[in-house]
Amino acid sequence: MVIVLTPGAKEEEVAVLREVLQEAGCEVWPTKGAFQDILGLVGETHKVDREQVMSFRCVEKVLAVQDPYKKANRLFHPLDTAIRVGNSRIGGGGLAVIAGPCSVESEEQIVGIAKQVQASGATFLRGGAYKPRSSPYSFQGMQEEGLELLKLARKATGLPIVSELVSTDQLDRFVDDVDVIQIGTRNMQNYELLKAVGEVNKPVLLKRGLSSTIEEWLMSAEYIMAGGNEQVILCERGIRTFETYTRNTLDLSAVLAVKHLSHLPVVVDPSHAAGMWWMVEALSKAAVAVGADGLMIEVHNEPERARCDGAQSLKPERFDRLMGQLQRLSALEESAM
Ligand code: PEP
Ligand code: MN
Repeated sequence: MVIVLTPGAKEEEVAVLREVLQEAGCEVWPTKGAFQDILGLVGETHKVDREQVMSFRCVEKVLAVQDPYKKANRLFHPLDTAIRVGNSRIGGGGLAVIAGPCSVESEEQIVGIAKQVQASGATFLRGGAYKPRSSPYSFQGMQEEGLELLKLARKATGLPIVSELVSTDQLDRFVDDVDVIQIGTRNMQNYELLKAVGEVNKPVLLKRGLSSTIEEWLMSAEYIMAGGNEQVILCERGIRTFETYTRNTLDLSAVLAVKHLSHLPVVVDPSHAAGMWWMVEALSKAAVAVGADGLMIEVHNEPERARCDGAQSLKPERFDRLMGQLQRLSALEESAM
């Protein structure tokens, strides 16, 4: 971090600033310029509060040399992180596929879909038990009963389960019942929730916020990791842009950026990005082409009757066909590396 001081900055004020910086754990290296002086900082610069530094009247600007995230940063962890869950893995090569309905609706539905996606080669089962919906009048999920049904589906197939946690109230239950805790788009900056999942020993799938920058997303990962839980999987699920034809705009360049900046695995959710089932296959292939470590795909046996997100759900037959294509594509990508 480099702090540029104002021309004629008062020495007493600069001395207080240096004290504050040293207290934060930084070494301060001053350099005299012809018109302005600068302070070079080394050490725990991520602990320096930029806003606080800017509040000193002797400071003109603060230039960041390093990213504000440490644990998520590839700089300090050059190798890709692989997260293992049972017999499945996300990251470190191969393609993980998390498939299943938007929400758990009944035993027959979730166990039936779990068997179908497993037969097609999915490596995780997804299913929402607690649903964060835009309208309070929409289906809110089967909640505790939904978690019980997910466990039955896991027992029937052996597939690890991924489900969304919406409140710290249910954290203990999720730690006992699910294999990967999903933090949804709407909660990407719910810092209390992030801190809480940072304290447990359970992989967390962190979806990108609706209008979040890549840096904000990585800072949310950092929140979880700072608590000691380093098993974070990032999920690009489309962001809000001016376009309204699609539900969101799938930001595939974010996959490349995040894999460049971070060692964490990245999966792509084309279902919530597009909002339309017929776009899901092509977007899934595009995600593999840019190097995603996995996909999250909504699958429903009767999308017309789905209680949530039927329009973006693939039928099991289409999912099966897609899986065959993805396996060939993923093998081709790996052989080209
Ligand atoms: C979901 O995966 O069911 C979901 C609600 O996703 P998102 O948080 O990306 O909207
Ligand atoms: Mn959904």
